[in-house]
Amino acid sequence: MSSSPYISKSKYLWGLQCPKLLWYAYNAKELIPEPDAVTQAIFDQGHEVGALAKKMFPDGVEVGAGVPNLDETIRLTQAALKFRKPLFEAAFSAGGGYCRTDILRPAPQNAWDIIEVKSTTSLKDVHLEDLAFQKWVLASAGLKIRSCYLMHINSDFVRHGEIDLKKFFTMEDVTDQSAELAQQVTDRLADLFKVIRQRQTPDIQIGPQCDDPYTCALHDHCWKFLPSLSVFDLYRGARKGFDLLGQGVTSLEDIPDDFKLTANQEIQRQAAISGKPYINRKAIAKFLAQLVYPVNYLDFETFGTAIPLFDGVSPYQQVPFQFSLHTVRASGAKPEHSMFLAEGRHDPRPAFMLKLRDAVSRTGSIVAYNAPFELGRLKECCEAMPNFSPWLKAVEGRVVDLLGPFRSFYYYHPDQHGSAGMKAVLPALTGKGYEGLEIQEGGTASNEFLRVTFGDLPAEERRRVREQLEEYCGRDTEGMIWITDALRRAS
Ligand code: SF4
Repeated sequence: MSSSPYISKSKYLWGLQCPKLLWYAYNAKELIPEPDAVTQAIFDQGHEVGALAKKMFPDGVEVGAGVPNLDETIRLTQAALKFRKPLFEAAFSAGGGYCRTDILRPAPQNAWDIIEVKSTTSLKDVHLEDLAFQKWVLASAGLKIRSCYLMHINSDFVRHGEIDLKKFFTMEDVTDQSAELAQQVTDRLADLFKVIRQRQTPDIQIGPQCDDPYTCALHDHCWKFLPSLSVFDLYRGARKGFDLLGQGVTSLEDIPDDFKLTANQEIQRQAAISGKPYINRKAIAKFLAQLVYPVNYLDFETFGTAIPLFDGVSPYQQVPFQFSLHTVRASGAKPEHSMFLAEGRHDPRPAFMLKLRDAVSRTGSIVAYNAPFELGRLKECCEAMPNFSPWLKAVEGRVVDLLGPFRSFYYYHPDQHGSAGMKAVLPALTGKGYEGLEIQEGGTASNEFLRVTFGDLPAEERRRVREQLEEYCGRDTEGMIWITDALRRAS
């Protein structure tokens, strides 16, 4: 066990989510996996937002930058307090707790305000716990705290030129809520210290806490005992999964006949028992009958940054930077492929829309998987560039959502594991997927695009990643053709 005399703020929050997670952090740290690239990218965005927030306090002083020693950082903080300036990353420890405050702002009568910066667009319960812990530690260290604020991103913000910090950020006064929670910190810390000193792993069952407020880093480790077709595959049935687990049922096929399931969940149970897909031939045939040649299979890739990169864009607004389009002109015809992948560091949307308008055939269906996503992006593009609105009006009635037959359970294969998403449907239905591709999902595609477009990278690396992006997006639309063909065979 670690001999650390402190529980840091992040470990305190882990302990509140699940004592078992906290125990691992101190007793078997090596079993906690490092964050994956997509999660790391979210953390990196958080750091960028934190750096931007500091610009609101131009006379602020960074405390202990690059100082690895905790006690030294705490000592430097004590020295910096005397200057009565806004402090960034000030460090405190008291009563077994340790934290660094994003921003500590001097207030009248020798008091201080704690400002916690978050890259979310709203206040969450976990933020209040976060501030309550800081308030408790700082007050225990002898500081007079006047107010606590959460500084988060204003979701209504739209970029026009340089980021206007006063409009970009929203400050919420959470002094009262955090004061109430701060009263519980003493007891909670005592409990958490008992947990980390335990010899045995705390005996805690998986539960809703595994994904609340965040997906736990030990999720794969704790959930691996479940069978492949588990009760947690139930479509929109997480609560039922925990009820069944409580009754000792882990496998879909072992769900008792009298357990109340929705019609779709019953389809899943029967498919698990028979090992065969459920097929509603009539409904599939009706769906396929809507498709009119030439059929355009269309997929977008997008990125959404916390700090908008272009004018007219809001925080986290999904900006399309790539599309793939496979057009099948007649039954059995070879698909024709066209695509777009943005070049340069400017707003990709004008070139994206021009190329798309040219590429989509003038007649026939436009098939997308989860089409409201593509339609939503097109509508946003038309708001920014109204000259494309007549085109969108003319084509939107031709859009068909390939997700429909799966979300409605016209077809369900046990290997979908309760998901109607394309990443689950494609391999279950066709035996083919994304194997062999460097980029295998949308989050990685966005991160890689941003990395090679805005990062300072060798041309060769850029070229390689752009090829991978083209392969990935191309597989999505090719996969839609395969799925449609498989539905035809099944109907
Ligand atoms: S996965 Fe769930 S049970 Fe396991 S440590 Fe995390 S929160 Fe606790």
